[in-house]
Amino acid sequence: MKSIEITKIKNKVAELIAKASFELPADITGALKYYLDTETGKSAKEVLRLILQNAVSAKSQKLPLCQDCGNTYINLKIGPGICITESGDLQKHLDDAVADAYSKNYLRKSIVTDPLFSRANTGYNTPALISTELTNETGLKIEVSLKGGGSENCSYLAMQNPSIDEEDIIKLVVDLVRTNVTKCCPPVILGIGIGGTASVVTKMARSAAFRELGIRNSDKRYELLEQKILEAANNTGIGPQGLGGDTTAIGCNIEFAPCHIATLPVAVFIQCHSLRRASSKISPP
Ligand code: SF4
Repeated sequence: MKSIEITKIKNKVAELIAKASFELPADITGALKYYLDTETGKSAKEVLRLILQNAVSAKSQKLPLCQDCGNTYINLKIGPGICITESGDLQKHLDDAVADAYSKNYLRKSIVTDPLFSRANTGYNTPALISTELTNETGLKIEVSLKGGGSENCSYLAMQNPSIDEEDIIKLVVDLVRTNVTKCCPPVILGIGIGGTASVVTKMARSAAFRELGIRNSDKRYELLEQKILEAANNTGIGPQGLGGDTTAIGCNIEFAPCHIATLPVAVFIQCHSLRRASSKISPP
């Protein structure tokens, strides 16, 4: 059995929140640079240039990439024989880490206690949204992702008729892009879940949205569908910030899972370009 103290995890989570808030991941800046080169629209080029400049300023000055510092998702991937020491509630420990990171780094606290009546701010950006997985990989991997309200509002679940085909899925996603993408600061990353159940498919869409852009679907049919949807989204001509152009989306990732014979759940998460994620591994001796 290998032990990891909870304090170590809390410190790492706080560190990853700061990193994710200030540093646009390399795959996202790489994609933005690629589309800056290929973009033909004048205003569109300028928006892409400003987004990249914003990323440079945020990193060098340790300022948030966006004023909306998001909901905090924390995923713990627990390897074989790993034991997290310290008694108490994991939620409470990680909430403390989130509150600490948001306060120390002057990140906007955006979470309200009650969704319908008081809508009072919790004041700490808590509770954190925690998930845990048991994996075969050694050590403990901590993944942090921050999702703003605008992009959260561009999340869709559609329980489809199982007789639909890939052309219908492309149309469904492109229709969503046409009607909604300007609400979530394009260029965007399209995270799509197909299959599973209503609850499983939304989780897949979120994890697809946060998957590194360089990692393609291992199933060639879905990899091709990712390419077709990305191309179709960019053919809308909506462009960066909706000002017109060739670059409405900089990536499309799909995750899929088996589903019931009578169902075909589809979830689409339209993730804004300000994609904030960071991860780290703790490997006890
Ligand atoms: S959609 Fe993204 S870039 Fe736009 S305000 Fe929200 S978090 Fe910021």
